[in-house]
Amino acid sequence: MDTQTPGSGRPTWLEIDLEAVVHNFNLARKKAGGQSRVGTQGSAGNGVEVFPVVKADGYGLGAVPIARALQQIGAPGFCVALIKEAEALRGGGITGPIRLLSGFSPGEESRVVDLGLEPFLYDLAAARRLSQHAPQERPVAVHLKVDTGMGRLGFGVEEVAEVLAELTRLPGIRVVGIASHLACADEPQRPETAAQTDRFSGLLQQPEIARLQLTASLANSAAILAHPETHFDWLRPGIMLYGGSPFFPDTRETGLKPVVTWLSRILQVKELPSGTAIGYGHTFTTSRPTRLAQIPVGYADGYPRFLSNRGMMTLHGCRAPVVGRVCMDLITLDITDIPQARVGDRVTLMGGSEAGAISLEEMSSWQQTIPYEVICRLGKRLPRHYLGGDWT
Ligand SMILES: *Cc1c(COP(=O)(O)O)cnc(C)c1O
Repeated sequence: MDTQTPGSGRPTWLEIDLEAVVHNFNLARKKAGGQSRVGTQGSAGNGVEVFPVVKADGYGLGAVPIARALQQIGAPGFCVALIKEAEALRGGGITGPIRLLSGFSPGEESRVVDLGLEPFLYDLAAARRLSQHAPQERPVAVHLKVDTGMGRLGFGVEEVAEVLAELTRLPGIRVVGIASHLACADEPQRPETAAQTDRFSGLLQQPEIARLQLTASLANSAAILAHPETHFDWLRPGIMLYGGSPFFPDTRETGLKPVVTWLSRILQVKELPSGTAIGYGHTFTTSRPTRLAQIPVGYADGYPRFLSNRGMMTLHGCRAPVVGRVCMDLITLDITDIPQARVGDRVTLMGGSEAGAISLEEMSSWQQTIPYEVICRLGKRLPRHYLGGDWT
């Protein structure tokens, strides 16, 4: 068993496989099925561009190293939710367009201009504020966000023509795109996706909108993989880049490669007699002479306390159950059935390919959530170690 721990030396860390991210990005490119209506030559080679979504620090896995790798292989630009996230990308050497999915707050207009961002716009007051800060000779490119049935952010479909008429009169702003978001694409059999797509297409065909030649975007990961008719001009893949299935708990084959492995090492081994109570609250009592391993990770790292007496970890190709409560910095495993386990041995909390490995999807089902939430909640204090190529 190897004994090397990468990074800062803390014996608990994440390995993030950039080759797998690149594979998953290339899968999005391959899937890009629609034909561009505006005739631009996109990164997918057929006019459909793929803009990786790296909001929330790349869904918790590290936006800058991931965006750098994808920029190197030709990603035309990126999407983030917040200005702060865009700033981190610029600081990390990302030079292409950055699209701001959640817009900007009052007071942030000049940062939108200075960072060269392309905000999604969903209210006119924000447009007017931005107009006052944007140089007339170098207008800010904006994308109109339309609500076609998500019932969340965006102008109503019926308002769009009027809003566009007003926006085209504002100096310092140039409407270049129109975008909407799908509510049910992750359940491919549901009819709402076709209804939203029709509504979006109908909008694009209105003569006063069609003549503006806007670039249109509707597809997230689920729609990229399952609904080619939603692809329009550019795609917004998020979870698929990070190896998570957008269809979970549906287990259909996606062709995605897992990206993240969560590792640690045994800190201490001890043997206790039958009838010994373990940990805070004494929620577990041994029922046989028991070997326990202490693992230096806890809920402060994003391992849910909910997995107390429920979770498992993999070592030596076997699974060991979490016993007692998950603590802030420590978790106890029952390794009685893995007699070869020693202090310093590698333990896998999630991911990897050894026998008994716990996939991101299985971890999600234990937590009664989706892969998105599991990776977004991986603790900030976990060292992230990037593998694969010289992408960083
Ligand atoms: C987060 C987000 C995406 C990416 O969604 P995935 O399901 O992770 O692919 C796409 N579009 C918008 C507007 C988003 O907020």
